[in-house]
Amino acid sequence: MIDDVGGAKGLFLLFTGDGKGKTTAALGLAFRALGHGFPVCVIQFIKGAWQPGEVAAAKRFDDLLDFHVMGRGFTWKSDDLAKDIAVAREAWRFAKKTIGEGRHRLVILDELTYLISYKMIDEQDVIDTVASRPAGTHVVVTGRGASEKLMAAADLVTEMRAIKHPYKSGIKACKGIEF
Ligand code: ATP
Ligand code: MG
Repeated sequence: MIDDVGGAKGLFLLFTGDGKGKTTAALGLAFRALGHGFPVCVIQFIKGAWQPGEVAAAKRFDDLLDFHVMGRGFTWKSDDLAKDIAVAREAWRFAKKTIGEGRHRLVILDELTYLISYKMIDEQDVIDTVASRPAGTHVVVTGRGASEKLMAAADLVTEMRAIKHPYKSGIKACKGIEF
């Protein structure tokens, strides 16, 4: 049977674990939803060292896909933690507003778990925001180290487990694969 909205409310999906594939799985869902003509919003909370391919690819879907890179950089390289926290909170406020507006069928919160683990934002606020989303909105959260509490709140949890990664054999991040 087909369920168009995922139990009327929409689904909360969580991709966690320390293996590769969390962000790519989320982007795969975006691609799938766009194919059905569903409006999608992607918010990336951590800005990496490279310009990821998905940022440029998103421009090709600009009628349906809103793509925001909101992070300041990797926190463990931070030169100004207070600034990181302010940027993270502002990004989360934006995400909350986006979810609340209900314009998108799919909202992807990429690497959101790090903001929670670094205590930059409140986990309960995340859970409450997702729980009170407008009907028919799917929310995807990605990132390592999701808590038991966040996992309990989700409808679907997939843990990516690292069996093997080329990084371990000294192969550096590869364009089109890592970013
Ligand atoms: P991707 O964006 O490729 O789907 P991810 O979202 O699952 O990866 P993150 O934790 O966000 O993984 O880390 C992003 C980067 O770290 C990617 O370049 C990815 O290839 C790399 N990475 C992921 N898992 C591992 C691992 N087990 N060992 C080394 N590097 C990894
Ligand atoms: Mg990721």
